[in-house]
Amino acid sequence: MIFGRTHRKPISIPAKEVKEWKYTTCNYCSTGCAIEIGLNDKGKIVTSRGHAGADVNRGKLCIKGLLEHELFDSPGRGTMPLMREKAHLPFQPTSWDAAMDKTAEKIKEIQAKYGRDSFAVVSTGQLLTEEFYTLGKLVRGQIGTNNYDGNTTLCMASAVSGYKRSFGSDGPPGCYGDFEHTHCLMAFGSNLPEQHPIIYWRLKEALEKRKFPLIVVDPRVTMLAQFADIHLAITPGTDTVLINAMMHVIFKENLQDDEYIGKYTQGIDELRALVADYDPKTAQHVCGIDEDRIRTVARIYAKAPKAMSIWTMGINQSTHGSDGVVDINNLNLITGNIGTPGGTSLSITGQCNAMGTREWSSCSGLPGYRALEKEKDRKLVADFWGIDESFFPEKRGLAQTDIFPAIETGEIKGLWLIATNPMTSMANQPRIIKAMENLEFLVVQDVYEDVETNKYSHVYFPAAVWAEKEGCHTNTERRVNLTRNVLAPYADSKPDFWVFNEMSKRFEERNKIHFPATPEGAFEEMKILSKGAGRTLDISGMSYDRIEAARGIQWPYSEAQADIDTQKIGLSDPFEMQLRMPFDGNQRLYTDGVFQTPTGKANLIPVRFVNNNECPDAEYPFWLNSGRVVEHFHTRTRTGKIGNCNKFSPTPYMEMNPDSAEELGIEHQSYVRVVSRRGDAIVMVQLTHRVGRDMLFIPFHFHDCVNRLTLGLLDPHSRQPAFKQNACRVEKTDQQEAARLNLERRAF
Ligand code: SF4
Repeated sequence: MIFGRTHRKPISIPAKEVKEWKYTTCNYCSTGCAIEIGLNDKGKIVTSRGHAGADVNRGKLCIKGLLEHELFDSPGRGTMPLMREKAHLPFQPTSWDAAMDKTAEKIKEIQAKYGRDSFAVVSTGQLLTEEFYTLGKLVRGQIGTNNYDGNTTLCMASAVSGYKRSFGSDGPPGCYGDFEHTHCLMAFGSNLPEQHPIIYWRLKEALEKRKFPLIVVDPRVTMLAQFADIHLAITPGTDTVLINAMMHVIFKENLQDDEYIGKYTQGIDELRALVADYDPKTAQHVCGIDEDRIRTVARIYAKAPKAMSIWTMGINQSTHGSDGVVDINNLNLITGNIGTPGGTSLSITGQCNAMGTREWSSCSGLPGYRALEKEKDRKLVADFWGIDESFFPEKRGLAQTDIFPAIETGEIKGLWLIATNPMTSMANQPRIIKAMENLEFLVVQDVYEDVETNKYSHVYFPAAVWAEKEGCHTNTERRVNLTRNVLAPYADSKPDFWVFNEMSKRFEERNKIHFPATPEGAFEEMKILSKGAGRTLDISGMSYDRIEAARGIQWPYSEAQADIDTQKIGLSDPFEMQLRMPFDGNQRLYTDGVFQTPTGKANLIPVRFVNNNECPDAEYPFWLNSGRVVEHFHTRTRTGKIGNCNKFSPTPYMEMNPDSAEELGIEHQSYVRVVSRRGDAIVMVQLTHRVGRDMLFIPFHFHDCVNRLTLGLLDPHSRQPAFKQNACRVEKTDQQEAARLNLERRAF
């Protein structure tokens, strides 16, 4: 028998005539892959490729990066500013001047009537760092509202909060190179192959060279869990119980690193006293991991010469997110696994420049990891910008997750949304709709005119995307990398940097501040602000040319370090530099055991578990979990427009265990109605043993889907929502009606 076609035609991909390659950094996830965009002899973008010389991705890209150059003229892009008197009425095209004048006038009117904080600004993790810095200057230095945040509160706020509590400062201490040195890796709620494929490839490469145990903690059998040596299918939201029980075993069996604890930490007695209560025998009934398994994992981790922990949203998006991060840090501190090759805590960040916003946007403080709460920081920044320090509030205002309830109660009347889409991304969508309808004025600044939230706006600013602009990103491992401006903005869209600069002119009567005319000018200003004795976030030795030559530099990278590197290489010409690279910033933080706390010692903080999740019950018997698929990014505003990304993942689906489905008479690929206390969603069922009998999983990317169901209880420290712990039930539904509803809800 002959299998296959007899006259097979081999697939051929036509060669692309590339005349020039331009350097950029991927604008999706925080891995920070370096991408070269290929232009033909007419200056048209024809392809892209991973940069083989970049340490992060070494020539590799995932599907999103490979197709990213198709973004520039994708459907739905905003072509011109739009205005209307009332949301839902037809938009009228207008000029940039008219749209900006109207916005500035409405901001001032609302602030005059209800107070400065009655107008809120919510941005993103997707802008370039220089844009974040400029937006911060505009909002903190001129508009003067304290209700200013980024959508990173949905993503990394718990990591930020946990780092600050343990180490006295934000900033992931480790790097991808740690995979090559570690003897044990524990991944908490992190599905690298789908979320961060190139970081996963780095891990896999390290594992192929030198085998070490991979332990995955996740309620679901994720792709990473399938490759693990040990998979701990934990009860949702109980990670701190597992970690406390591991520390219980470590102390009981005297496996801790007493020397490290004595020299570099404080709070050991309190931590020991707390974890004494977390015997694995008791803990197993809460976290769902067998007591012997807890002991085994604790021994493997503590006995490994070097061990590291990574985590993503499984830890962060929880009511115990910040505590989970603190507990991971506790575990690494008591085993001497911070600041050493292969021994670290390493949060795997979500968005491409979530780090840039944490560092420079002034969302939760002032630029360069400075705090509104510290008088000397307020004074330093006010003097640098040339304004009176009393213009700054003395503590941060509302986080994004508190801004929407404040709109509902009428405390906030106006909102400026920049590259974020709360109509799809926020928990409890029915309440977000009410909040949007309550606004007196909404301005939406986005690459796409058809972004769902724009339905509620009064003014729309069309923004340029990715390489239509120039500037930097910081990735998960603190690597600052550059995107060169490759082409002009689409139609009459404008770089966000330009929008903020133009808006600043309309607020000069409040504070006349100098705004550099170019992103590179803003970067030079940030470099000055980054300097200071003992500061970790020092970028003063970097320049655009040096970053491009090195294909990204990790901070801290001081002027002194740059001088040493220049002397070592003996050149200052960027093109010759490129041949003799790399420059290395500091790969790791806290290598000297000195932390950013007042005493210089890291804090060991006891974390007691309180079960405040919305747990399944008789009426709502399933845990509902959500997460990413590899083809899509966030709310699909971009990947939903890219042919192949959309083709491979066109519709929302729900993973359900076949046994539970059988009990309810539900078939594979049938539509069901999922119901929670907030609302309902229609999804197609995919039967799989990836989820247990009491669990469901739905990708979060789709509008009018999983966030119609989520509750989004908030972490008390970080204000990050618990997207992953919700209770719901599944109902059979009429297939025709469900298919109709599914289409209707997708067709904004
Ligand atoms: Fe871009 Fe992330 Fe994919 Fe790299 S792994 S190409 S940064 S989306």
